[in-house]
Amino acid sequence: MTQLPFQLIENEGAVPIKAWVNGVPFDKGAQEQVRLAAQLPIIYKWIALMPDVHKGIGATVGSVIPTTKAIIPAAVGVDIGCGMMAVRTDMTADQLPDNLKPLRTAIEKAVPHGRTSGSRKDKGSWQDVPTRVAKNWASLNTRFGEIVRKHPAIEKSNHVTHLGTLGTGNHFIELCLDEANRVWIMLHSGSRGVGNRIGSYFIELAKKDMRGWHANLPDVNLSYLREGTEHFDDYVEAVDWAQDFARQNRALMMENVIKALREVKGIPTRFKTEKQAVNCHHNYVSQEIHFGNKVWVTRKGAVSARQDELGIIPGSMGARSFIVRGRGNPESFHSCSHGAGRVMSRTQAKKRISLDEHQEATAGVECRKDAGVIDETPAAYKPIDAVMKAQSDLVEVVHTLKQIVCVKG
Ligand code: 5GP
Ligand code: MN
Ligand code: MN
Repeated sequence: MTQLPFQLIENEGAVPIKAWVNGVPFDKGAQEQVRLAAQLPIIYKWIALMPDVHKGIGATVGSVIPTTKAIIPAAVGVDIGCGMMAVRTDMTADQLPDNLKPLRTAIEKAVPHGRTSGSRKDKGSWQDVPTRVAKNWASLNTRFGEIVRKHPAIEKSNHVTHLGTLGTGNHFIELCLDEANRVWIMLHSGSRGVGNRIGSYFIELAKKDMRGWHANLPDVNLSYLREGTEHFDDYVEAVDWAQDFARQNRALMMENVIKALREVKGIPTRFKTEKQAVNCHHNYVSQEIHFGNKVWVTRKGAVSARQDELGIIPGSMGARSFIVRGRGNPESFHSCSHGAGRVMSRTQAKKRISLDEHQEATAGVECRKDAGVIDETPAAYKPIDAVMKAQSDLVEVVHTLKQIVCVKG
């Protein structure tokens, strides 16, 4: 008997769950969490779980949740538009200096990263907003102004200081080599503070609306906004704007990294990057057609993988990453995983993994090796090879990347 590429979980009184988890860990917490979502009356056909699935805040990470005439803002979450961007350069490994430290320093200087408060104060946002950033913000600001006029609570004066900045923790910028020793630049970030604000605001609004309708929900966090209401239209507008901000944020960081690298001694000053970059969200909602019907698809830690569409699946700060091409598998609503996915919480990682183990796992990578980054150590994530194998019917691998420099937020 041939094994199905996914596990089919039937649920009494709920839609089924199709989980691409053959050969990878699938935690109990995530299973229980996703069963609740499957009980909602707005789910279209089934929920698809990608092999990087793990329990998340609000909704399961690695889930694809199609909904009819409604959206669950907490499933999209507060990290609206988080995603990946990668571009291939015309440089090969032998054109890089032996000492990679100056490359890392140049990237760290070009892109504000880390926290804006606490011990690493003022590193995470612009002190003086560069003209290029201000220009980009100006083009975003008109639409944002309209959103804020209706919902003043979203307003905060300094969103421009976050545009073109990385954020914290799991967000990163890397230089990688592919199978042909070509140099790639890859980065991971989203809509920063402003997306967070929009997300939290509409999550609360959805809860309020649902209370008003006395709807019977398996979990208040699964409150949804319904098509035909003003709040729904406003959310669609705001979330779409935050997704644009996120995409532009990544593009801007990429520009700044390229510019900074060209000035590092020992690097070809006129190195080129390919016109066609991959820039994909992995935390977002979009309206799509599946099985002939128009539905809202929320990908919480999942990437669109339509036939021939390119996507990015990162591993960890010590593992390989993949540029993939979608197979357009309708069973997953044309989706694939957004990474390896966590097997350990941040707290668990800090308790269980030693600094020595972290240093060994990141040997040869120019990156942080201090205790503050242990929660991001490779062992905190699932083995990427198993994750890729579990979704071979969803994507094919186009390039295999291994990082040589990694800047973490
Ligand atoms: P998330 O968006 O859920 O925080 O993370 C996406 C995925 O990125 C994770 O599941 C993990 O597989 C991967 N990842 C986390 N940190 C790094 C890193 O420093 N470098 C690379 N290449 N991948 C990472
Ligand atoms: Mn993020
Ligand atoms: Mn992300």
